[in-house]
Amino acid sequence: MKIEKWAIVPKTAPEIIRNCPGCRRKTAFHSSESFRINANGNKIDVWLIYRCEKCNFSWNLDIYTRISPGFLDRRLYERFQRNDRTTALEYGCCKEILSRNKAEALWEQVEYDVEITKLPLLQTQLSQKQYKKTQISPTECGQEFIKEKVLVAIYNQYGLSLRLDKLLCSHFGWSRKEAVKMEEEGFLRILSGGKGCKAKIPKFMEIEIYES
Ligand SMILES: [Zn+2]
Repeated sequence: MKIEKWAIVPKTAPEIIRNCPGCRRKTAFHSSESFRINANGNKIDVWLIYRCEKCNFSWNLDIYTRISPGFLDRRLYERFQRNDRTTALEYGCCKEILSRNKAEALWEQVEYDVEITKLPLLQTQLSQKQYKKTQISPTECGQEFIKEKVLVAIYNQYGLSLRLDKLLCSHFGWSRKEAVKMEEEGFLRILSGGKGCKAKIPKFMEIEIYES
């Protein structure tokens, strides 16, 4: 049995649809991955700068407004100062901040990478009981299955809007129909987290797959 950790990492923050004063219509704004910091007396503002994809007009996503310097962790402040790419991605994907800014984010169009780490068994959160349960073959008809079982822990920490079947199809080269069949026949099982193959992937879920 193999154990893998899949981390779904967006390539960019979602684009934001808004009225562009330069274009005089709604356009898509992308994150410039640069922060703007305004330190005024003892208050600090931090924004993430977005730009219209058509005319480059800039728009600032409010991250912190008039906070006292002591409120900000020094290391985080330094990351803002040097436009740290991961920090820009984290803030550009923060649903709470996007909704506070009334930003209409195009989550569906975000491209992502899947970073795969192979784990030794002891590192997983599977209980002994779950482990035993997974030893049972999905069919009882006495056929020989030379399929290898893989336990996959999926981390969707940026909360991408992505269905499990879409992820699996792009990884294994299955069709949607094949994914449904795998689930129906017990070769794909949800161990924790998600609701099913056609449901969106939550922040964390565990699945079991019999690889052919
Ligand atoms: Zn524009």
